[in-house]
Amino acid sequence: MADLFTDVRFVKGVGEQRAKALQKLGIATLGDLISWFPRRYEDRREVRTIAELEPGVSACVAAMIADTPVVSHIRKGMDLVKVRAVDATGTLDVTFFNQTWLKTSLVKGQTYIFYGKAEGYQAHRRMASPVVELEGKQEFTGRIVPIYPLTAGVSQLILSRSIRQGLNACTGILQDVLPDEVRREYQLCAAGFAYENIHFPENEEALALARRRLAFEELFLFAAGLRRIRQNQETVQVPPCHKVDMDAFYSALPFTLTGAQRRCVEEALADMCSGTPMNRLCQGDVGSGKTMVAAACVYFCVKNNRQAALMAPTEILARQHYAGLAPLLEPLGIRCALLTGSSSAKEKRTICTQLAAGELDFVTGTHALISGGVEYASLGLVVTDEQHRFGVAQRAALAAKGAHPHTLVMSATPIPRTLALILYRDLDVSIIDQLPPGRQTIETYAVPGSYHTRVYNFIRKLTAEGRQTYIVCSQVSESEEQPDERKAVTQYAKDLQERVFPDLRVAFVHGKMKPKEKDAVMTAFAAHEMDILVSTTVIEVGVDVPNAAVMVVENAERFGLSQLHQLRGRVGRGSHQSYCILISDNRNEETRRRLQVMTKTADGFKIAEEDLRLRGPGDFFGQRQHGLPGLKIADTGCDTKLLQDAQAAADALLERDPELASCPAAAERIAQLFTQAEGTLN
Ligand code: ADP
Ligand code: MG
Repeated sequence: MADLFTDVRFVKGVGEQRAKALQKLGIATLGDLISWFPRRYEDRREVRTIAELEPGVSACVAAMIADTPVVSHIRKGMDLVKVRAVDATGTLDVTFFNQTWLKTSLVKGQTYIFYGKAEGYQAHRRMASPVVELEGKQEFTGRIVPIYPLTAGVSQLILSRSIRQGLNACTGILQDVLPDEVRREYQLCAAGFAYENIHFPENEEALALARRRLAFEELFLFAAGLRRIRQNQETVQVPPCHKVDMDAFYSALPFTLTGAQRRCVEEALADMCSGTPMNRLCQGDVGSGKTMVAAACVYFCVKNNRQAALMAPTEILARQHYAGLAPLLEPLGIRCALLTGSSSAKEKRTICTQLAAGELDFVTGTHALISGGVEYASLGLVVTDEQHRFGVAQRAALAAKGAHPHTLVMSATPIPRTLALILYRDLDVSIIDQLPPGRQTIETYAVPGSYHTRVYNFIRKLTAEGRQTYIVCSQVSESEEQPDERKAVTQYAKDLQERVFPDLRVAFVHGKMKPKEKDAVMTAFAAHEMDILVSTTVIEVGVDVPNAAVMVVENAERFGLSQLHQLRGRVGRGSHQSYCILISDNRNEETRRRLQVMTKTADGFKIAEEDLRLRGPGDFFGQRQHGLPGLKIADTGCDTKLLQDAQAAADALLERDPELASCPAAAERIAQLFTQAEGTLN
C-alpha cells in the first residue's frame, strides 16, 4: 500500500515524464505533491453571454464556433489562429498565438467555454489567447480554479492533473495529524476534505474551511515542535559559568551602556551561570546597540575559558563586526579572528587549526563558521546576528559544533508580541527598548515619482554639506519570476551618474556581485570615497556608515513596513540630521496608509504591530524573515486568533501527552518538519 512518502513517479497517472518536471519544483513524494498549495484562485464559475462581457475584465463565455479556424503565419515562430464564435447576443473574434493545433480541434458548430479578457464593445467583441474548453469537458473553467506557483517546463495543466491523481491516490491513506478532540474543539474539517478543497474547491465556503484547517495544522505542528525543542533544551545540563568581574570590559568601552543594554547583558550572563544552555533572543530596534550586548557575553564566555563565535548573515556585516570588536577585545586578552567564505584557503586552514587547538578565543564570520571542516576546542557561546536571516536549522547546526553551547540570537526585526510568542517560543526573549542617548528622529517623507527632481536637488544640497546618500531600488518588471535586481541597480546608477549627477561620485552594489566586490564598494562608501550608493536591500542589514544622512527608497510600496524601517535605520547613525524619502506612485489606499505609518512613527515595534494589523501575519511568516520551516498556508490563510488557538491546542496536547504517544502521525510530521529545515542548510 502506498503512503505519503511514495515517489511521485509511482503515483498512478503521473509517470516518469511528469515526475521529472515536478522534481524541478522540489516535488518528490506524494506528500509533497498534495502539499503544493495554490498561490491564488480564479473564480471562473459564472458563464456570461457575449453581450455581457466587460472590456478588460476576465470572464467565461459560452459560444459556438461559427467558421473554420484560419491560421496565418505572421513571421518566423509566430502563427496566429483566428476563429469566430457566436451566441444569441453577438459575435466574438478569438485569436490564439502559436497554438496551431486548435485549427483542427475547434470544431464548427460545437459550443466551447472561453475564459479570458474581452475587448471591444457590445455585440462585437474580441478575445486574445483565452483558455478554451469544450462545454461539458471543462477542467479550467466553470469552477474556482487554483493557480499554482510554477517554474519553466511545468504548466498549470501538468500540476493540476498530477495533483488530481495524487489526491485520488491518497484515498484511504491520508492520516489526520490533528487529534479528533482538537478538530472537534476548534471545529476544523477533516484532512481529506481539506486537501481536496484547497486544490479543487467546491465553493468559497469549502475553500475557507480547507484553508483554515490547513493553516491551523501548520501552526499547530510548528508550535508543538518548538515546544518540544524547548522541553529538550531544559533537560540538558552544562557546567555553569562562574562570575566574572566585568569592570575591565565596561571601562574599555567608549560609552556607558544604556539601562536596557545592561539588563540584557545581565539576563544573558544569568542564563550562562544557570547550568542549562542559554537560548536567548535579544531583540532591539536598529541602532539600539545589540553588538555591545554580544561583546559583553563574548567577554564573559572567554573569561570562563570557553570559545565564542559570532555569525553574521553577510560578509560585509561579518567584517564590520570584526573591525569593531577586535580592537576592543584584543587589548582585553581575547584572541580574535575573522572567517568568511572569501578568506583564502591558507587563512582558513590556519584559523581552523587554531580553533581546534584552542589558540583562538573568538571567531567572527558568515556561514563558513558552520561549514563541515570547522572544529572548536571548546565552543561555549554562539551569537547569531540579525537572526531573521538564519533559522532554527542554522542555529541547530552551529550548536551541534559544541557540546550544547550557549546561544544568543540578535534580531533587529521587531516582531509583534503575538507572533514572537510563536516564532520564538524555543527562546527566552530580552528586549532592548531604549536607544543610546542623543539619537535624532529621522525626518521621513512619502512622495510621488513627480518629486524626483526635488529629491535629486535635495541630495545635491546635502552632498554639498558633506553628507552621503543611499538610494534603494527594486526591479521594475512585474513578472512573478525572480526579479533582475542587477539590471535595475546598474541601470539606475548609470542614468544617475550620466544624466543627474555627472559631477558626483555614484556607486552601486547588488546581491549578485561577488562578496569581494560588494565589500570593496561598501568599504569605499564608508570611507566617503563615494557620495551616492545605489543598491538593493543588501544594505538593509546592519551596515554602519555614520556620515550617510539620506535614504531614498524607490517603489517604496514593494517593501514591507518592517523592511522600510530597517532601511531607514541605515541613516541617522551619526550626529547629522537625517532624512528618509519614500517614493511611490502607487495610489492604492492601503499603500498610502502604510507609507503614512512610516512618516509618523520611528518605533519599530509600533511599525511591526501596524504591519501585522494591515497585512496579517503572512509577511512575518515569509520564509525569508525567520528561516523557519514550512509555514506555507499560514502565510496567507491565518489570522491572529487562529494562531493563538493553534498554539493553545498544541500546549494542551503536550501537557497531556508530552511524547505525543497518542498521535504518532503528528509526532512523525513534526520530526519531518524540523529535519527538513535542517536539510535546507548549505
Ligand atoms: P544594532 O542594535 O542596530 O546592531 P549597533 O550595535 O550597531 O546597533 O550600535 C549602533 C551604534 O551605537 C554603534 O555605532 C555603537 O557603537 C553605538 N552604541 C551602542 N551602544 C551605545 C551606548 N550605550 N551609547 C552610545 N553609543 C552606543
Ligand atoms: Mg547590528
